[in-house]
Amino acid sequence: MRQITLFGATGSVGQSAIDLIERDLDNYDVVALTGGRNISKLADDAKRLGADLAVTCYDECYAELKDLLSGTGIEVASGDAAIADAAARPVDWALSAIVGSAGLVPGLEALAHGTTLALANKESLVTAGPLLLGRAKAHGATILPVDSEHSAVFQALVGEHMAAVERVIITASGGAFRDWPLENLATATLAQASSHPNWDMGQRITIDSASMFNKAMELIETKEFFGIGHEMIEVLVHRESTIHAMVGFNDGALMAHVGPPDMRHAIGYALHWPERRALPVERLDFAKIGKLTFEAPDTQRYPALDLAHQVMETGGLSGAVFNAAKERALDGFIDGQIGFLDMANVVAETLNKMSSDQAITTGAITLDNVLETDKLARIHAAEAIAKLG
Ligand code: NAD
Ligand code: MG
Repeated sequence: MRQITLFGATGSVGQSAIDLIERDLDNYDVVALTGGRNISKLADDAKRLGADLAVTCYDECYAELKDLLSGTGIEVASGDAAIADAAARPVDWALSAIVGSAGLVPGLEALAHGTTLALANKESLVTAGPLLLGRAKAHGATILPVDSEHSAVFQALVGEHMAAVERVIITASGGAFRDWPLENLATATLAQASSHPNWDMGQRITIDSASMFNKAMELIETKEFFGIGHEMIEVLVHRESTIHAMVGFNDGALMAHVGPPDMRHAIGYALHWPERRALPVERLDFAKIGKLTFEAPDTQRYPALDLAHQVMETGGLSGAVFNAAKERALDGFIDGQIGFLDMANVVAETLNKMSSDQAITTGAITLDNVLETDKLARIHAAEAIAKLG
């Protein structure tokens, strides 16, 4: 029996993981499930999976969760500290599928207890990559990528030496607005930005896909996770989302990872790693697909990509600034405070303001510094939003 915990169990990635685990429940001992406001889903899942503990991050949801799970013997808790406590319960494998920088602390806590961490929460690598990797190293814990592009790179690297890697190409679908005339983007609505042509994901990452902030985050995630220079990483627009990433080697060979756009592949690979086991995903028929297309990304349409390179060059705590400003700008767009294109302006302005500060460019990446930087960046981003609004 493998003991497992799922952080962000009620989200899109969390539910895909549950789909895989439920097919084989006899082999798993589910220790904890965490979620947010979707309490009926969290309670249902905790019962079906026989979890020991269910945690909501919102204290105001505690009573409802407690009520739904009364008489089941399942422990109930709420709040950020309770999620961190859940991460301190040692398990063999945990999924980090919380959205946003809230995923950082539970991820660090799980690694400190030697747990193998399947990481979907890219925000924690963007804000504090060296801290997360250092924590894993110090405790002999493993981090496995779950983001589809990074799982693809990871798989393409099996049996290879990093010294032979020349470049890494991550693909992007282009998101909801890839065919829109540039001049219409400023008036794009929340509903329009919340639908993805290929992937079915949470709302925040779907909007980030339309702006390519998601791909920008993934550039930084690639640099941090694989430890390569930013000039070695490229983004390629590939509408079909069939090739997830390619690794280019010094003999000119490219190893491409090809598969259907279904997160159960990347989650399942991390779940069964180092083995490869059967997964219930579609088998691709290339004769039917016929052709695959590729384009260079238009950096005018997707300014987030240049911002990511700026962050990777600056280093230090600028990843924390970038992520926090992006999260705040996204809140602003979702709340109707700013337009779609304003998000990149808010992030650029926040980065420019804070990157002249030595505390940001050369500051140590400690948890305190990261949390402090995150807080400050949100304040600057809110000011930039107020100016626009
Ligand atoms: P989602 O919005 O569907 O789910 C997020 C989960 O986190 C939910 O369980 C929610 O209750 C919980 N949560 C939200 N705010 C929280 C907080 N402050 N504290 C604790 N828990 C909180 O998101 P998702 O699409 O499943 O994405 C999850 C993560 O995986 C993100 O980092 C995303 O970038 C990454 N990711 C997602 C996909 C995808 O296909 N959805 C693909 C690759 C990577
Ligand atoms: Mg991805």
